[in-house]
Amino acid sequence: MDSTDKPDPAEQDDGTAETASSLEFNFVPDWAKQPPPAQVDFFVSKGRKERDIPDEGRDRRRPGHGRPAPARGGPRPDNNRRDDRRSAHPTRPPEPRREVPQRRPEPVERVPVQVRFMPEQKRLAAVAREIQVSKKSYPLVDLATLFLSRPETCEVRLELDREFRAQLHQCKFCRLVARDPALIATHIVKDHLADCFDQEAVLSDPPSGQFTCVAKCGLSGEILAPPNHHSYNDKILEIHQARYPDMPMESYRNRIQIVHDAAVIEQWKEASRKQTLYRRKPDGGEPGTPITLAEAEAVMLKEIVPTAIQQTRHAILPAVTAQAIRDPGLRLAVQEAWRKENRFPLTLLLALRGALHHRHLHFFKAGKGIEFVSSVIPTPLDPEQTVEPIRQVLNHLREHPGCTRKDLVAALLPDIAADAPEVRNVLTPLAWLVERGHIIEFFNGTLSTPVKRQPAPGKPPAGPVKG
Ligand SMILES: [Zn+2]
Repeated sequence: MDSTDKPDPAEQDDGTAETASSLEFNFVPDWAKQPPPAQVDFFVSKGRKERDIPDEGRDRRRPGHGRPAPARGGPRPDNNRRDDRRSAHPTRPPEPRREVPQRRPEPVERVPVQVRFMPEQKRLAAVAREIQVSKKSYPLVDLATLFLSRPETCEVRLELDREFRAQLHQCKFCRLVARDPALIATHIVKDHLADCFDQEAVLSDPPSGQFTCVAKCGLSGEILAPPNHHSYNDKILEIHQARYPDMPMESYRNRIQIVHDAAVIEQWKEASRKQTLYRRKPDGGEPGTPITLAEAEAVMLKEIVPTAIQQTRHAILPAVTAQAIRDPGLRLAVQEAWRKENRFPLTLLLALRGALHHRHLHFFKAGKGIEFVSSVIPTPLDPEQTVEPIRQVLNHLREHPGCTRKDLVAALLPDIAADAPEVRNVLTPLAWLVERGHIIEFFNGTLSTPVKRQPAPGKPPAGPVKG
């Protein structure tokens, strides 16, 4: 039922079709009504460059930040994380000041993988329902663009090229993928801890040692730590990354103030007593006993990770998750595909057409070859074969394609109040005509009539019509 070929040529060229693709959508759910993001390429759409994407998708403990990277073949969650180190080595001297890493662009080899975009099923169902119920016609490419502009409404399908000998490893929690299983294992330990453990705040002994001053963030006023406490550097890193990731680290350090005030030092001591313990979520049984972060991470690594990674050569993941891919070669492939798709949403359009076709919707082309989707099949009706009120409506629309219901009523019933009974005489048959496909109502409320295509000289008449 794809494109019956036949727009109504002359009529729509300058009318409806043009209007249809340039107006804002005012249909479907709220997400569709929001203005598109300033920049659709989401990898750079958050006002920051890609390298500055905040930490939800980034491991703070990467080599540039002074700690070893996880070894290939198995992640090594950092057993010396801040909270636990504090109690384990209360008087350890601060680590040497970490230098801001100089980012040297490393050449990344793009993974040979096919990347395709698809509508997310629930969103798709909502849109299909809207099309079904409204009886209106929607431009397919604009629908695809709309989906693409909202990563939460799309999924991404990755399929490794046949000749490429590798596997994808996929997180079963969020469907993130990487070629290196260690990368996914680290991700699970770090990002899905909260899926497996409940957190519990407890009070420990105050830090011991001599503290004559304490550092304070000059921007937020937050108390950091005494410069001679082991948590000092970690605390600076944490605040910098969480709140001022765009500011060079050196500039941030220059804003730090040193306060010699016993009351403020006390305040810091009190605050640093608060610790977090972790309790395994009950899986039908009793909740686990409270353990430290390092212990919880060890449990994750030993018991959760082995069952939470799936090996595959093709994977489907939410587009939002695809944004967080850390495998550099895969990330590059997805970025490139995304940019290409933003220029024209080809793969999404194909997926959308297939999915809407599957839901028994119809397609037709109108105007300058613009493809529309609708729940009704455009069906031309000869005005001369109809009764008077319908003939009037059809003839008016043939002469004025692209007008609205309001325009139509105003033209056929000039000087009549909008609530007059005569108006109903026009609108009632109109609803029926739209439902039967004799009139096409576009998503923006404009109307048009499908016409029979005129056969080319010497050729048999073409099939059906189109709007
Ligand atoms: Zn995950």
